[in-house]
Amino acid sequence: MSSCNPIDIFGSNVFNDRVMKERLPKDTYNALKKSIDESLPLDSSVAEVVAGAMKDWAIEKGATHYTHWFQPLTGITAEKHDSFISPTPNGGAIMEFSGKELIKGEPDASSFPSGGLRSTFEARGYTAWDCTSPAFLQEDLSGVTLCIPTAFCSYTGEALDKKTPLLRSCEAINVQAKRILKLFNKETKNITVCIGPEQEYFLVDKDLYEKRLDLKFTGRTLFGQKPPKGQELDDHYFGTLKERVASYMSDVDRELWKMGVSAKTKHNEAAPSQHELAPIYSSCNIATDHNQLTMSTLKRIAHRHNFACLMHERPFNGVNGSGKHVNWSLSTDDGQNLLDPGKTPSENAQFLLFLCAVIEAIDKHAPLLRASAASAGNDHRLGANEAPPAIISIFLGEQLEEILDNIVCDNPSGDTERVRLDVGVSTLPHFRKDTADRNRTSPFAFTGNKFEFRMVGSNASIAGPCTIINTIVADTLSDMADELENASDFNTALHNVVQRSIREHRRVIFNGNGYSDEWVEEAKRRGLPNIDNTVDAIGEFISPQTVELFSKHGVYTQTELSSRYEIKLEKYAKVIHIEALTMVDMAAKDILPAALRFSTALSDNIIKIKTAAPNADTSVQEEMLKNITDAIARFGSTLDKLKLSIDKAEHITDDIAYLAQFYRDDTLAIMDSLRVIGDYMESVVGRDMWPIPSYSDMLFYV
Ligand code: ADP
Ligand code: MG
Repeated sequence: MSSCNPIDIFGSNVFNDRVMKERLPKDTYNALKKSIDESLPLDSSVAEVVAGAMKDWAIEKGATHYTHWFQPLTGITAEKHDSFISPTPNGGAIMEFSGKELIKGEPDASSFPSGGLRSTFEARGYTAWDCTSPAFLQEDLSGVTLCIPTAFCSYTGEALDKKTPLLRSCEAINVQAKRILKLFNKETKNITVCIGPEQEYFLVDKDLYEKRLDLKFTGRTLFGQKPPKGQELDDHYFGTLKERVASYMSDVDRELWKMGVSAKTKHNEAAPSQHELAPIYSSCNIATDHNQLTMSTLKRIAHRHNFACLMHERPFNGVNGSGKHVNWSLSTDDGQNLLDPGKTPSENAQFLLFLCAVIEAIDKHAPLLRASAASAGNDHRLGANEAPPAIISIFLGEQLEEILDNIVCDNPSGDTERVRLDVGVSTLPHFRKDTADRNRTSPFAFTGNKFEFRMVGSNASIAGPCTIINTIVADTLSDMADELENASDFNTALHNVVQRSIREHRRVIFNGNGYSDEWVEEAKRRGLPNIDNTVDAIGEFISPQTVELFSKHGVYTQTELSSRYEIKLEKYAKVIHIEALTMVDMAAKDILPAALRFSTALSDNIIKIKTAAPNADTSVQEEMLKNITDAIARFGSTLDKLKLSIDKAEHITDDIAYLAQFYRDDTLAIMDSLRVIGDYMESVVGRDMWPIPSYSDMLFYV
């Protein structure tokens, strides 16, 4: 039996530094290492040797195929498997893998969305190995595959994937943060963005899942009456893991560990059947790849345990949705966290400057950050049951907020409590990290030495949101560096920059309850945007200020931004189209027939009783019959409206923005009405007559 000891299996399927050191000639190893550390392109002779060693290692571990593993704009990962086999003239075969195959591949990727970046007749893009993310082996029932994390570009150099802009944004913040550190007389080779994404998901019994067309086609329930018990008792959150779930989770852990994903914590989440997995944080690029692997592994292993893993942002109405909390910080080469308050006045000042840069960035670019988390699925989550609201604000904790207030206050005389804090001269008062009363309602929270962005949906790649956070913070750091580099007196300039930043952007700080109605009002008074749907949110991707911001830092070109905007609109429209069609299908083939059977049973019952006992009281049955018949009539006419809406939408062919708006304003609204009537019918029709698994069945399966 293979070892279960995490130490033995961790990274056993990764072509990591240790394996490279062991298997590569010293010169090749050093050349590769230099490419990785300095993000330089790999020399072809080096690639040839690396490819050979990688192939041998993979074949020894049972691999027969390799794939360039990349993240196209669909948001999921894509792979095209090639075998190592190459025929020989004598009719045999050898296993081959060249340097060229390692560093470049040419997928015929015409079916991936490119938002007009690449027309189908020139379908080929090319993929290039991203050697900063190590190659790994993926094992499944079909065998073992060598996966090579790659970036995906068009021949004209436009990024067709999520990784390329992410890498560019890491470079942008690296450049700007180093300028700031230099002002504090610090040198570091690289500043790394550190990311720890917490992943939420639901598990549903596979047999029940198979009986729900909506779950299979759309990932969420389009009908479903709330169960008598939901999450109100808080008895699931951090509750004991049920054995079946625990066994699934340890399988997931083991698979992830083999691929070098440091799955660390697992627990039950707030909603019944909802769980979370968090890794130990790593560099932004690797964390992004690992999160994709985590999602696919969670789904894959679920089948082995007769579960379906739901990654949708809101699979069930009435209980929590699922998100992805993206923990974000910056680290120097020697592991110094730039968001960790220091002990000396200078360290404190540096901390405050980085803190303010983030606050300023978030306030200035709130609509863009909001857009980064926008999707049809997440629209059902943001602002609903215990999910962050659609309003962007920052939680700092009272003590830290007070410290910032003290920096702003310029008139300390006579006030013993509020002493002005001289940035770079005074020491920060020691502040405790808010853990006990940590505010979980904030979309962007400072949690002691990192920020946590909680708006991202459970289904999304974290690449997009991270690209945006990195770039907006890089931009503020760049403005601050411009001002400080030219200052004659650094300390005074520093104080002014920090003070001004707090003054101008204080409005985005909010420590209160983000779920409350009062906050919605208060945010409006403060002028903070509240954008509650994807169609409105994503317009920000093509606003002049966004185009300028991303061009300045070389992260997205205008064409790349327009393509992403188009793809998001298209995706939104497609998602709702599929949901609407699925709803029509379930309504016509599951729900209406059930309601008809029930009404027939009632009328049969009335007739039979009246025949047997003409004076019997059948008023209850008659009332029930009237109610269900009325509901059937309303359901039928609303269903017709929905079909008409779909038909209208299918005829909008030339204006994707209008199409998305139409789905939002017309189709979705009718879907909501249809659901209300359907759910009412579920509440009255006898359990044995209801053809699809109920919320109670699905959420309380073990
Ligand atoms: P929770 O928020 O559930 O209480 P933690 O805050 O301890 O849990 O950690 C959540 C995630 O944040 C984990 O993935 C962890 O590795 C990550 N994390 C911890 N420190 C940092 C950091 N400095 N930068 C980025 N992520 C971090
Ligand atoms: Mg957290």
